[in-house]
Amino acid sequence: MEIRITTLSENTANHGFLAEWGLSILVEVDGARILMDTGWGFSAVYNAQLLGIDLDSIDTIVLSHGHRDHTGGLRDILRRKRNPVNVIAHPDMWASKYTHFDTRDEFSGTPFSQESLESLGAHFNLSRGPVRITEHVMTSGEIPMLSGYEIIEDNLLVKQGAVLHADKLADDLALIIETDYGLVLVLGCAHHGIVNTLRHAQKVTDQELVYAIIGGTHLYRASTERITKTIADLKEAGIQKLGVSHCTGFVASSRLSCKFPDAFFLNNAGTQFTLP
Ligand SMILES: [Zn+2]
Ligand SMILES: [Zn+2]
Repeated sequence: MEIRITTLSENTANHGFLAEWGLSILVEVDGARILMDTGWGFSAVYNAQLLGIDLDSIDTIVLSHGHRDHTGGLRDILRRKRNPVNVIAHPDMWASKYTHFDTRDEFSGTPFSQESLESLGAHFNLSRGPVRITEHVMTSGEIPMLSGYEIIEDNLLVKQGAVLHADKLADDLALIIETDYGLVLVLGCAHHGIVNTLRHAQKVTDQELVYAIIGGTHLYRASTERITKTIADLKEAGIQKLGVSHCTGFVASSRLSCKFPDAFFLNNAGTQFTLP
């Protein structure tokens, strides 16, 4: 079973491609074209054009969560599609999300209304649980926080009424692909933790072996201890491909590259590969 993965938007870009803070990954499998996230702005559209990818051929869009760096490109993508498209996400993608920076709280949620996106052809399938997309592909649904050492950062907030609270990011989900060579996980930001995501995927598919993890791991502000424990747990899972993106950060990336010398690569905008 062959899987083609193309990264359309990411913080760093390969030669000739556009970079922006965000993530968008095209997954081609089971004869379907599934777009995981849409980046912050127009880099996904620009980079798709550069690669000769017709955005109209995308069957399904999955939004990993409601942060703008994953949903912000959606309107531009819909405008370039002639046919309606299913958009799978968690209902909390519409929550009023903020990020706290040193001196200010900045809106960081989905920057469009549901109605405006529906008028451009988006058919939303909002679900708290896993959604089956093809025979071998599903979304994770809500990911339980069980590892004990992975935490959701306290600068991520949600506005309820006029008050900002810590955002538990129930909307955080991953794409799970079941293959005969193991699970392939495509992550958005993995706000609930890469290991929590992995264990949840193992549980919902009843499959232990994890072949590949691709995407954002949200380790860029993680403690040394958390990165050490993450590495130990990933080692146990027997991962053979580890293509990190977006919110992984330099320190975690360099440590992972040392510990997984054969599996590790930087998955930047313009990166294209086939699994297995
Ligand atoms: Zn996020
Ligand atoms: Zn992100």
